[in-house]
Amino acid sequence: MKDIITVKDLCLWYGNTQALKNIEIGIKENAITALIGPSGCGKTTLLRVLMGLEKTYTGCVSGVPEKRSAVFQEDRLLEGLDALGNLRFALGTDYEEAKAAAMLTALGLTWETGKPVREWSGGMKRRVGIAQALLNEPEVLILDEPTSQLDPIAASDFLNTLRKINAELG
Ligand code: ADP
Repeated sequence: MKDIITVKDLCLWYGNTQALKNIEIGIKENAITALIGPSGCGKTTLLRVLMGLEKTYTGCVSGVPEKRSAVFQEDRLLEGLDALGNLRFALGTDYEEAKAAAMLTALGLTWETGKPVREWSGGMKRRVGIAQALLNEPEVLILDEPTSQLDPIAASDFLNTLRKINAELG
């Protein structure tokens, strides 16, 4: 498998803090890649660079597809709407109810129509965000700590689901 995204000698400073120092990474096509490291080592910053949200860096980042989606640590949902309402709002004219419902189910969510997401657990909300990102049919999906709100069994189930979805899309 060839590298689709390459990062070479990437450095980024926030004021006097160096968040990224000489990062070298190759990300393969049709694969799930995990970034693992202690808090503060620059994982979120690197993901922000890949999403095009940080532009003031040195080094080279290439191959990031135009069609990319991200789910960051903070939920960006409309708390008063239910799951499908959130997906309908986010996807606009691309929204297809059957597809949206199937994606929520694939991610292991059972939901009550009309129940606002503010009444949901953190892990459930995160999965609505991921459903939203996947329904955009991105070529690359960036997830920042997607299992942080899940217990170990739910985290393992979730990762298996992601592998399955990746295999189906790949
Ligand atoms: P991680 O995701 O691995 O926990 P981050 O990428 O969030 O690490 O942070 C890397 C470093 O950059 C840390 O030292 C953090 O304090 C610093 N940092 C992150 N965002 C900012 C910011 N907006 N302004 C200043 N410093 C920041």
